[in-house]
Amino acid sequence: MRTIGRPGMSVRKAPAKTQTKQFESLRATELYCPRCKHSMPVRERLLLVLPEGEKYEYLCVRCGTSVGDRIAKGEPKPLIVY
Ligand SMILES: [Zn+2]
Repeated sequence: MRTIGRPGMSVRKAPAKTQTKQFESLRATELYCPRCKHSMPVRERLLLVLPEGEKYEYLCVRCGTSVGDRIAKGEPKPLIVY
């Protein structure tokens, strides 16, 4: 099949919208959940801010069980507030 440009209509190329949106730190972290008895994707939640860093808790996305935590030591991270 051939596409023919319509007469009287100048075919102009639309400005290329380069909306290359990168994956915004969407980390697919998986941890073993004792309740689901499976490795499950987890949600990271800021638990509390300690003098030595911010304590994050990992929650299973399925049942919400805390499957781990970590302390981010003074990482210059953009704080996302939901
Ligand atoms: Zn679970």
